Amino acid sequence: MPLSSFSSAFHQPTYNKQSMYRKAIFEALQVASVRAGRPVPSCDASDDAEGVELQTRQMIEWAMAGFLPTGPQALDPPEVMADECTFYEQWQVKQNNVCLRLNMLWFSVCSDICISCGSLNVSLEHPLFMGAMCQGCKNSFLECAYQYDDDGYQSYCTICCGGREVLMCGNNNCCRCFCVECVDLLVGAGSAAAAIKEDPWNCYMCGPRSTYGLLRRRDDWPCRLQHFFANNHEQEFEPAKLYPPVAAEKRKPIRVLSLFDGIATGLLVLKDLGIQVDKYVASEVCEDSITVGIVRHQGRIMYVGDVRNVTRRHVGGVSSCLHLHSLFPARLKKGTGRLFFEFYRLLHEARPKPGDERPFFWLFENVVAMGVSDKRDISRFLECNPVMIDAKEVSAAHRARYFWGNLPGMSRPLTPMANDRLDLQGCLEHGRTAKFEKLRTITTRSNSVKQGKDEHFPVYMDNKEDILWCTEMERVFGFPVHYTDVSNMSRLARQRLLGRSWSVPVIRHLFAPLKEYFACN
Ligand code: SAH
Repeated sequence: MPLSSFSSAFHQPTYNKQSMYRKAIFEALQVASVRAGRPVPSCDASDDAEGVELQTRQMIEWAMAGFLPTGPQALDPPEVMADECTFYEQWQVKQNNVCLRLNMLWFSVCSDICISCGSLNVSLEHPLFMGAMCQGCKNSFLECAYQYDDDGYQSYCTICCGGREVLMCGNNNCCRCFCVECVDLLVGAGSAAAAIKEDPWNCYMCGPRSTYGLLRRRDDWPCRLQHFFANNHEQEFEPAKLYPPVAAEKRKPIRVLSLFDGIATGLLVLKDLGIQVDKYVASEVCEDSITVGIVRHQGRIMYVGDVRNVTRRHVGGVSSCLHLHSLFPARLKKGTGRLFFEFYRLLHEARPKPGDERPFFWLFENVVAMGVSDKRDISRFLECNPVMIDAKEVSAAHRARYFWGNLPGMSRPLTPMANDRLDLQGCLEHGRTAKFEKLRTITTRSNSVKQGKDEHFPVYMDNKEDILWCTEMERVFGFPVHYTDVSNMSRLARQRLLGRSWSVPVIRHLFAPLKEYFACN
């Protein structure tokens, strides 16, 4: 769209929610500034986020007011650059020197320039391709590399973690995208158009060769990718064994053992991510939870009862089954501490024996409000430190939890997806108004949906205060509406299930990297 349509196309709610959109707006308005002959603000967003935000706000005001004094007509692209001008200009804006784009082609091989954005201020090597990377792009990579859209494909380009138009890999089970700009720049002019004609097109991570023009895939990329995301802030423990991603054609459906399964949130998320589930064995004792699992997953779940009675036999012949991939979602609640040892026992029961290279992932969750010594003991047993994740970043309610585990990229930053409902208003039914943006942590207690120490009701309806409805609470947790509406369960019974469940978008964030290991739809 032409820049002159800025005021009608700009979408404030998305701007408020999505950092990628903010970045895009910033870059578009930089282009406008260049064309209007206004000074271009410096653009290293990683240096001074507040400064960038202020500049962007000023630029938005300028754009909304009609790009005065020159007006929108002065913003038409210069003729010479024709179709590709925006991309040329992005480089121009970033480096104030269009020649640098050409240099970049040369330099990327020499590791002096960020192959994602062209910056010269590089600090590390790109994990997948020959060439360097700057800190800002590393941060985008950490945020975006495991973001997947509803169609199951990566939301952003594998090279730059940005991109306006992306090519999607045609290899079954590969979910990678590459943006047209990176492809034309690094693989060669016209390569994107050629790729579009190829059917099916195999991406540069799946293709038979490792070199495509200037794009050279690293031989040791699986290992580098793992290190890129490794959480090594705490030095007390040996780093966990890293599993290199599995080649797309060798990926198998996942097999899961879920202890303290609750309402099968793990299975819901795996399905949402498009990961094929071969087997989902669940240990759960609460009848209401089991009913939700049976009804919502049409009998797919194999329930094995109380965790204390689960044995090697239930784990489905783990040791004799060659392709068993297990995942252990679980949660230890205060007062039920001993159950942690059941988790520990089964973790060891199922863990592949030395020499067995099949990927094996586990996850253990607990509330943050736990004793320091309990936390330390759990970390000692599990031989790693937990990461803390708060659902408030991706949902309308606070919910800070510790997660121990060996899922790849567990400690990468949490970023909301376009469909995440970040404020309470977005979770409410028609005709209802939220009094708060974010709810405090919802627990199994009915009063936990009231807010603040005076226990305010969170919603207005017909000028009266009201509590949350079940459907609204389900949206707050990221569940499909009516997920817990089975067997005529009361509102309180449903809140009991939701109040101890996982927040769906958090689990999605944690499970998304599994797409590199298991077969997907
Ligand atoms: N993460 C889950 C909820 C976990 S809450 C979710 O997203 O829904 C802890 C669960 O452990 C509860 O559902 C509780 O019923 C179950 N539980 C408690 N004791 C258990 C036992 N001995 N064996 C199996 N499950 C148990």
